[in-house]
Amino acid sequence: MFKKILIANRGEIACRVIKTAQKNGIKTVAVYSDADSNARHVRLADEAHHIGGAAAKDSYLLADVILGVALKSGAEAIHPGYGFLSENAEFSEACAKAGIAFIGPSANSIRSMGLKDRAKDIMSKAGVPVVPGYQGTDQTPATLQKQADDIGYPVLIKAIAGGGGKGMRLVEKSADFISSLESCQREAKSSFGNAHVLIEKYLTRPRHIEVQVFGDNFGDAVYLYERDCSLQRRHQKVVEEAPAPDMSEHMRKAMGDAAVKAAQAIAYSGAGTIEFIVDVENGLENAPFYFMEMNTRLQVEHPVTELITGQDLVDWQLRIAAGERLPLVQADIPLHGHAFEVRLYAEDPENNFMPQTGRINHFSTPTQNENFRLDTGVEVGDEVSIYYDPMIAKLIVWGHNREAALRHMGRALENTAISGLKCNLEFLGNIINHSAFQAAHIDTGFIERHKNDLMPQNKRADHHILALATMAELDPNRQGSDPWGWSDGWRMNLDLKTTLTFIDHEEKRAVKVMYREKGFCLTIDDQDIEVQILRHEGVALDLMVNGHKISAKVIKKGQDFTLFYGASVSYLHHYLAGAEGEDETTGSGIITTPMPGKVTQVMVKEGDLVTLGQPLMILEAMKMEHTIKAQIVGKVDMFRLAIGDQVAEGAILIRIIEEGAI
Ligand code: ADP
Ligand code: ADP
Ligand code: MG
Repeated sequence: MFKKILIANRGEIACRVIKTAQKNGIKTVAVYSDADSNARHVRLADEAHHIGGAAAKDSYLLADVILGVALKSGAEAIHPGYGFLSENAEFSEACAKAGIAFIGPSANSIRSMGLKDRAKDIMSKAGVPVVPGYQGTDQTPATLQKQADDIGYPVLIKAIAGGGGKGMRLVEKSADFISSLESCQREAKSSFGNAHVLIEKYLTRPRHIEVQVFGDNFGDAVYLYERDCSLQRRHQKVVEEAPAPDMSEHMRKAMGDAAVKAAQAIAYSGAGTIEFIVDVENGLENAPFYFMEMNTRLQVEHPVTELITGQDLVDWQLRIAAGERLPLVQADIPLHGHAFEVRLYAEDPENNFMPQTGRINHFSTPTQNENFRLDTGVEVGDEVSIYYDPMIAKLIVWGHNREAALRHMGRALENTAISGLKCNLEFLGNIINHSAFQAAHIDTGFIERHKNDLMPQNKRADHHILALATMAELDPNRQGSDPWGWSDGWRMNLDLKTTLTFIDHEEKRAVKVMYREKGFCLTIDDQDIEVQILRHEGVALDLMVNGHKISAKVIKKGQDFTLFYGASVSYLHHYLAGAEGEDETTGSGIITTPMPGKVTQVMVKEGDLVTLGQPLMILEAMKMEHTIKAQIVGKVDMFRLAIGDQVAEGAILIRIIEEGAI
């Protein structure tokens, strides 16, 4: 076995590989770009080397530079992860030439499967069924059109060099063919540098079922069962599970055998995935299945296979690359229980799934155990940048059957909170909790068909959400956020009143707050609700709302609130008229620091009566002066700041008691 390996990747997969290497006592070498100097994979590895600029082409795709680092650091092997150089035949070849083991297949295997047309030819010669279609070299539009007409619509045009769901066009009728062809070729040329396409029969209700295979350098190959990846958005996987629901032993063996045949046809070594598309028009049993493509690398969704087989696939990869035989023979590969994986993406479902960037200021999940696994490339404080894939983590669960696994996933998603950027957490929860998904009525059209149920509703925050944000802001017993014995102040003013204003989807929402002996009375949209704080620990906040207990996670960063309540994720901004330089008739009597800074001027003292918009103090932050103004008319009740004080973001600066309340 190797003593030291280099991981030519970043993010969650680099961390995943490092984990197994460390478990096996293998030293790890990380490489990183300008954008990743303090990334999690760099922190985890035994050594790390800078390889270039933030853009992938200036760092993670620099084969020569990475190979140079491997040689210099004494690494005996390179694990390429997925993406980047993982399916680059020249890189596999260059490693072999330099005497460094490439933890993946040979350059020949990669080349055989690298282009979809050639892969289909090789497979059909080997007796593996392929999707009916045309994959010839004649690329004249007239020929392609004729082929499409013969195949019969709908057809799919696919870039032979495509990947990641890009370079595909669905054509419904002959008249649309030429314009779709042109746009597909344009995208193929610009994304993959290769405009060649193939034409395929488009299956209207298929499932994507793929088989995990492993080959070694002794000619043996096995399959580690299947994964169902039918839950896709724009041909990109969102949720994966293993085994495939309703898969019979007989069908599993038929697909597994076909996958092994495919791997052996190209003398495959290491981990690979044969992706099949299955026509489930008449159910899964005996359904026709067709080879779509082979991914000659470890797949993003490999953890679900690990959980149902109890095997560590990275360990298998390492052993095979080190020249060992396959760890298990086919008959000895276990299959127990059911596993799901969801891909947590930094993207905004409410805004056409636009990728999001930002610094993660909170990230909490359940603790890992036999039912829950978290594969992540980030931790609190890390930045998700524009340079790489927006996938931030994978949540993976195991249960003794599908129903149990679904329950675990439901809980895991409910107990996950992330803030600092928008993500698809609520969207994922809506999929997992959907009755049709729970009943396994799935195919690749699932997400599109149910999108109205699945899209996070662009809805107004309800009263619970506003109450949670208000209490998180005002909790009189909150430890740490109250440098001035805040709770005494509250107790002295039993009838204290204030109004908080939140921005909710660009709408201003006012919450009138009255403190009573037994708790709070909030008025929202002219409705009164009674609220008591039951527990407020960390981000966990439990309230009694009109006698009904609710539990949520509320994360406050500056004036921004991210609230995780049930399956919903809400975003509110506590609007501070004074700090935001705008006059307001309803504002808050509680003024907090909009950003970390230094007090440079103080214009009022405790007990002063202030008018709306009256300057109270000046804060210097980010090399600029910010005038903090009163948002309500009232009496300055708490003011213990002195010139020169440093204040943290979100710290309470001043409290003004509304005049009527005094
Ligand atoms: P899977 O079937 O495992 O989902 P994908 O083809 O979607 O495989 O790609 C897996 C990951 O690798 C995705 O996150 C994608 O962004 C990334 N990826 C795919 N192709 C490339 C590439 N050429 N360069 C860099 N990253 C890539
Ligand atoms: P990529 O290299 O981008 O992963 P694939 O060939 O694996 O491309 O196809 C990606 C997805 O597109 C599949 O998982 C499936 O949902 C859909 N797809 C591909 N081929 C067909 C087809 N012939 N009919 C229907 N859907 C298809
Ligand atoms: Mg694919």
